Amino acid sequence: MRMWLVDPEKMCRQHLLGEHVELHMLEGCLNKGKNISGFIENGFVDPTLLLPRHDELAREMEERGYNHCSPVGKIPQTLQKGHIDPAANRVELCRRCAECTERFSNP
Ligand SMILES: [Zn+2]
Ligand SMILES: [Zn+2]
Repeated sequence: MRMWLVDPEKMCRQHLLGEHVELHMLEGCLNKGKNISGFIENGFVDPTLLLPRHDELAREMEERGYNHCSPVGKIPQTLQKGHIDPAANRVELCRRCAECTERFSNP
C-alpha cells in the first residue's frame, strides 16, 4: 500500500487507479484493526489523509470519465499520523513509469 500524494492530474491512468485501489485497501485495514505501523513508519501511508486524498483522486477519475462508485465509508475516528514526502514520491514514481514522467514534465 502506498499513497503517492502527488498531483492527481499528472498521474497516468494506471497509477491514478492504482493509488485509488490502495486507499480502499487502507480503509479495509483500518476498519479491521490491522497493524499497518510498518507502512506508516516507512512513509508509505498517512491514515489521517485517507479521506481527503481519496476524494481528490475520485474527483480526478470522474473528471477523466473513469467509473467511480466506491466512496470511503465509516473509518475509525482516531488515526495515526504518517509522514509522507510527496517530492520524493514524485521522483520515485517517475523512475518507475515512463507515462508519469511524460505527464509530470509537461506543464
Ligand atoms: Zn473510491
Ligand atoms: Zn504512471
